[in-house]
Amino acid sequence: MPAQIPHTEPAPRPRRARAEPAPDPSLAEKALVVHARLCPVYGCPIPYFHSLDPVSELVSSLLSHRTRNAESGRAFKALRARYPAWEDVIDADTAEVEATIRGVTWPELKAPRIRAILAALRERRGTLDLGFLAGMGVDAARAWLEEIPGIGPKTSAAVLSFSTLRMPALPVDSHHHRVAQRLGLIGPRVDVGPSHGVLRAQLPADWSAQDLYDNHEILMLHGQKVCHHRSPACGRCVLADLCPSAALPRGRPARP
Ligand code: SF4
Repeated sequence: MPAQIPHTEPAPRPRRARAEPAPDPSLAEKALVVHARLCPVYGCPIPYFHSLDPVSELVSSLLSHRTRNAESGRAFKALRARYPAWEDVIDADTAEVEATIRGVTWPELKAPRIRAILAALRERRGTLDLGFLAGMGVDAARAWLEEIPGIGPKTSAAVLSFSTLRMPALPVDSHHHRVAQRLGLIGPRVDVGPSHGVLRAQLPADWSAQDLYDNHEILMLHGQKVCHHRSPACGRCVLADLCPSAALPRGRPARP
């Protein structure tokens, strides 16, 4: 019986192509101003933090959901040390994989999910190699990945952007999402998954992989260092004059 795959991202709908709504021109303009102001603060171009092959990046991304970087990094190293090839994880005992990645959030969910996703990849391609995605457009590559249960928009974008594929995709993590919401770039009810298409559509279509990576990183860093979850430091925020949430308690996203 095939392994059931628990989700931490919303289950994606199978699809072949994305049709994102045209961006609001004023929001697209605002997104560019935000980028231009934050880039000097955080030092664009920002060096890539990983140089992993796409399958390794996929595993790393799955481990990192709702988990601090230090813990997911430790779990990734432990997996690599115990299973020299990703095929070994497919054949491993789930309880053993779970014990190897303990320290991440929900190891009991992530262990069977990682095994099942790797098994699905091997079944579809006959090998654990995602290098072929480099020959596809970003939308088609993301749709291909998201057809696999357990891979959502955040993971597919991370694989394309952060791995050695270095493709122009825009990942959105919880910090990035929170800052974008407080700034009014996305509405208060737009979840992380749907926000990927909305935020990507606001940025120029011809932006490079580095440009989009920088955009993700500067919004994430701003969320970590200034626009904190509980107490945003609006008094020292370079975006305060653009931000409808600046005067609200705890930076609660302003309603349109
Ligand atoms: S002004 Fe405040 S709520 Fe708005 S982006 Fe800056 S820190 Fe966040």
